[in-house]
Amino acid sequence: MDITELLAIDQAHAWHPYTSTLDHDPVYPVRAADGCRLELMDGRCLIDGMASWWCAIHGYNHPVLNQAIQTQLGQMAHIMFGGLTHEPAVRLIRSLVELTPAPLQHVFLCDSGSVAVEVAIKMALQFWIAQGRADKCRLLTIRSGYHGDTFNAMSVCDPVTGMHHLFSRVLPQQIFAPAPFSRFGEPCQPDDIVPFAALIERHQHELAAVILEPIVQGAGGMRFYSADYLAQVRHLCDRFDVLLIADEIATGFGRTGRLFACEHADIAPDILTLGKALTGGYLTLAATLATSRVAHGISAGTPGVFMHGPTFMGNPLACAVANASIELLLASNWQATIWRIESGLTQGLAPCRELPGVAEVRVLGAIGVVEMEQPVKMREIQRRFVEQGVWVRPFGRLIYLMPPYVITDDELGVLCAAIRQVLVG
Ligand SMILES: *Cc1c(COP(=O)(O)O)cnc(C)c1O
Repeated sequence: MDITELLAIDQAHAWHPYTSTLDHDPVYPVRAADGCRLELMDGRCLIDGMASWWCAIHGYNHPVLNQAIQTQLGQMAHIMFGGLTHEPAVRLIRSLVELTPAPLQHVFLCDSGSVAVEVAIKMALQFWIAQGRADKCRLLTIRSGYHGDTFNAMSVCDPVTGMHHLFSRVLPQQIFAPAPFSRFGEPCQPDDIVPFAALIERHQHELAAVILEPIVQGAGGMRFYSADYLAQVRHLCDRFDVLLIADEIATGFGRTGRLFACEHADIAPDILTLGKALTGGYLTLAATLATSRVAHGISAGTPGVFMHGPTFMGNPLACAVANASIELLLASNWQATIWRIESGLTQGLAPCRELPGVAEVRVLGAIGVVEMEQPVKMREIQRRFVEQGVWVRPFGRLIYLMPPYVITDDELGVLCAAIRQVLVG
């Protein structure tokens, strides 16, 4: 298919993320992707600064990941997980139990991040129903969060930047504490936790769980907050008998410099969600992990089983590539890699602080953020990044980089220089 025909069909029929069918955002057709490069159909080559939304940590077209899928394909592409099991899923489940905080012992595999969040919320609700506490059915979260686009996930996204107004008549009404303002690397300032503590105390009798993204709030604002704040949240959840759900769909698998962001605060949640980088960006797969207290608590109640079961649960191809991706990550010196990227981002983005319109520059692990004072003009800035030979996709006031871990120092330099260049105008 030639580019003109492809774009005509795309424009007529494809509905891209968060887009209008009347006023079309431009899209760039990609022919292939390899390592940290996206090859466009018009022959241009872009250095990838996004890892396809946190996912492609080992880069594209990785021979080991390709082989894992090919080998599994020769065995079986998919079988139902009801009443059947298989080695790719069992190996993955064993790894996830070993790698995540010790109390998390039970793994529920599902299709995507949003579904993993739905499953986590359902686990929390069903746990309290089983305890005879059906009144504990609301959630407490912090503002500026993002947990996905399905309905319960939306209900705990930031109420202003999320979709609360649009769907207010159908969304469950949750409870929101202010976003933490104590920064990562600093202790929690005493008055930072006060509003959260007051809300959890006041609503403890109706709260099933607290849900938050540990340390890094991703799509809700790319904010990095104090590990000490997170430790205090864990403490308050214990004190008021509320479960803690940690959504590590974006932060999991090394992105913040620890394998899981909860490790920064040395805490274990009661329920954990994983996704995105789980398969190295190859196939859609997510997981919700629970402690034995939650899992056995649900199972000991009525109806005695957890009421969820996706059709494509534990897909063998996805599990096989997840196993290969995790092995690759652990066999690499990933922590040193993340520090290398962190220092490259820190150096490369620091000069942006002096540029007009820039509110703040911040870096944590392999995440670099330039926050602007005003929302960027998406189409124009996107075109200018492509002209600079990079794939960087800002949203709102945020221009950010979260490259594949295999990015070289030179490629990182090009990404940061492109941001500086585009901001200079
Ligand atoms: C992306 C994301 C989700 C949703 O995952 P999908 O796979 O897009 O459904 C949920 N929580 C967090 C923290 C995320 O970054």
